[in-house]
Amino acid sequence: MMDRELFAIFGDPVEHSLSPLMHNEAFRGLGYPACYTRYRLIDGSTLRERFFSLGLRGVNVTVPHKEAAYRACDLLDPFARKVGAVNTIVEHDGRLHGYNTDAPGFLKAIETFEARDVLCIGAGGTARSTAEVLREAGYRVTILNRGAERLASFREAGFAVDTWESFRPRPFDLVVNLTSAGLRDESLPAPREILEALFARARGAMDVIYGRRTPFLALAEAYGLPCKDGSDMLLYQGVLAFGHFTDHRYSEEEVEIRMRRAFE
Ligand code: NDP
Repeated sequence: MMDRELFAIFGDPVEHSLSPLMHNEAFRGLGYPACYTRYRLIDGSTLRERFFSLGLRGVNVTVPHKEAAYRACDLLDPFARKVGAVNTIVEHDGRLHGYNTDAPGFLKAIETFEARDVLCIGAGGTARSTAEVLREAGYRVTILNRGAERLASFREAGFAVDTWESFRPRPFDLVVNLTSAGLRDESLPAPREILEALFARARGAMDVIYGRRTPFLALAEAYGLPCKDGSDMLLYQGVLAFGHFTDHRYSEEEVEIRMRRAFE
């Protein structure tokens, strides 16, 4: 019989993560001999040492260690290299292979909107990888952020960028909140007047925050827009990570069916 493989999520905080439930549902449902736990990693520079001392086969990495995870890997897939952030690590022959499944997970989550012209609000790490994956997939991408500082690297990478002051609302297919505004407070990611002008002419809205109705989504709903929170993004990044963990032996559809149970 195969030994049980051990997987974990590294992050700080990590106690509210749904990843253990998602992956354990899939391992159990598919009969894969593995177990997935959570580990509060305080110092990102110890990630590699912890990975090996805990005898792990793979990890997911969440806030605030995705850049540290990028630095800890021996090999990076091209997309993770491009965005400088890793959320999935798998060990092969003593070497750590790093991937980024957050942004591809986002891409799959927005398929239902049939959008082409997307406004991304926010210019942090998640916005960066999301903007890149959207552009690679042929979407037209505009970035709107509160401060100018973080927009500089987006401008250098060739994205259309605006601060609240320079922005003139126009019709977008999809408006996405990629900031942490609304995660633990009641704030909107941009001034209400801007959001109202956007929602009056947009075709859909999505928030990457999950598990709560954010003020951003509440406002979009008030304008009658089709809305989605970050649950599908979380689900699909997990499905893609699971593929790396198990050497792609299952179809994404069969993994998705099992993982969805964690959200019920
Ligand atoms: P960062 O801390 O890197 O992003 C900060 C960004 O948010 C900056 O653009 C900042 O603007 C903006 N911001 C923060 N607070 C406010 C505010 N009150 N009003 C306006 N703008 C604000 O965060 P991440 O990129 O790591 O994560 C962003 C969000 O994505 C989080 O809520 C996280 O939970 C979520 N997420 C969801 C995932 C999922 O699977 N569903 C996966 C990964 C992340 P400024 O530059 O002006 O400071």
